[in-house]
Amino acid sequence: MPRKTLNKRRGTARRETTGLIVSCPESRSLVSMYKINEIFYSLQGEGYHSGTSAVFVRFSGCNLCCAFCDTQHQVGEMMSLQEIVAEVNKYPIAPLIVLTGGEPSLFIDEAFVAELKQKTGKTIAIETNGTRPLPNNLDWVTFSPKSSFVGGDAEPCVLKRCDELKVVYLGQDLAQYDDIEAKYRFLQPCFVEDLEQRKVNMQACVEAVKSHPNWRLSLQIHRVLNIP
Ligand code: SF4
Repeated sequence: MPRKTLNKRRGTARRETTGLIVSCPESRSLVSMYKINEIFYSLQGEGYHSGTSAVFVRFSGCNLCCAFCDTQHQVGEMMSLQEIVAEVNKYPIAPLIVLTGGEPSLFIDEAFVAELKQKTGKTIAIETNGTRPLPNNLDWVTFSPKSSFVGGDAEPCVLKRCDELKVVYLGQDLAQYDDIEAKYRFLQPCFVEDLEQRKVNMQACVEAVKSHPNWRLSLQIHRVLNIP
C-alpha cells in the first residue's frame, strides 16, 4: 500500500474524525472487501508488546469519535482478504499482526481471523474500543475503552475481559475499569501537540500509576523513536 495514503499513529489531538462506519456488524459476514487505511511493518509502541516487531493492519471507520483520534477514517483502500494477506506476507519475518483502526471489530469475524492466521502463520492481536463482540479465535486482545471521551452518544462497552487493558489517561476515575478482567493494565498519557500540556499529561499519568500500582505506564515509544 502506498505510504502516501498513510497517516500518523495513535494519539494526536485532531478533530477530523467523523465516526464513519463503513459496514455494520450484522452484515460483516457478508463483507468481502475491507476499507484499509494502511498496512505497515514497525514496532508496537504501546502496552504489553512495546518494542515487538509487528505488521499493523489499520482499518478505516469507527463507531466512536474521540477528540484525540488520529485515524483518517475517510482515507482507505478497498482490499480483499487475499490482498491483505499478500501485503502482510511481504514481511515474513514478523511474528505478530496487530489489527487496529478505526475499530476493527466492526469488520472482522472468526472466518477472517482464521484465514489470516492460516495464510500468514502469525499471531493475531486486536486493538479495540470494546463496544462490539469479538471473534473467539484472536490470540491477543488489547481493550482500550474510550467511552469517557466521546460524550453522551457513546456506545457502551460490551467487552468484560481482555489480555491487556490500555487506557488513555486524562484524569478520569480509574474505578470505572475495576469490573474489566485483564491480565495487564496500562495507563497512557494523552499525546497532544502542545509541549507544555504534553508534559502535564505525562506527569498526571506518572502520578496516577504511583497511586494505583496495579496499573503500569505505557509510552508511545514509536513517537520517541520517530518511526511509524
Ligand atoms: S475509538 Fe479509537 S479509532 Fe475510534 S474514534 Fe476513538 S481513538 Fe479513533
